[in-house]
Amino acid sequence: MKKIRCPKCDDFIIFDEKTIDMENVVVFKCQHCGKSFKVKFKRKNKDEEADEPDFGSLVVVENMFAHRQVFKLHLGDNVVGRRNPGDSIDCPIVTTDPSMDREHCVVNVSEKNGNLVFRIRDCNSNTGTFVMNVEVTKKEQRIIHNSDIISLGATTLILKTPGADE
Ligand SMILES: [Zn+2]
Repeated sequence: MKKIRCPKCDDFIIFDEKTIDMENVVVFKCQHCGKSFKVKFKRKNKDEEADEPDFGSLVVVENMFAHRQVFKLHLGDNVVGRRNPGDSIDCPIVTTDPSMDREHCVVNVSEKNGNLVFRIRDCNSNTGTFVMNVEVTKKEQRIIHNSDIISLGATTLILKTPGADE
């Protein structure tokens, strides 16, 4: 048995993967809210996964509000915030931290001369975005580096860039 989250109400839908066609688009109906949605399952292929480009990740440090989480970044804007049912941001942090906004900050990844550049900006959040304890001011796009510590409310994130030591 497998489970999948309803994109509308966040309820889990449990299904038997043997009874459905994992190769094609599958339509699910949420028992909780009645939402119908389509899912295309990706076949896991270890070789393909290894070739997937790495644009770094954000590691959420475990605290009293959240467990440890890792979010892979992609090129362009990665919106970071508190996970909320129905929202579709890039880095939805599962946390009960009330001081984190649903769209708190954005980490932008770009390529320059073959190197990745990471920039962070605040989304007008209530408690602000801090990098190494220095607040990111309005309209500022601060360049961040591997192992930089980002604080959103009571939550701490660490930037991991590709190829950096674990
Ligand atoms: Zn639902």
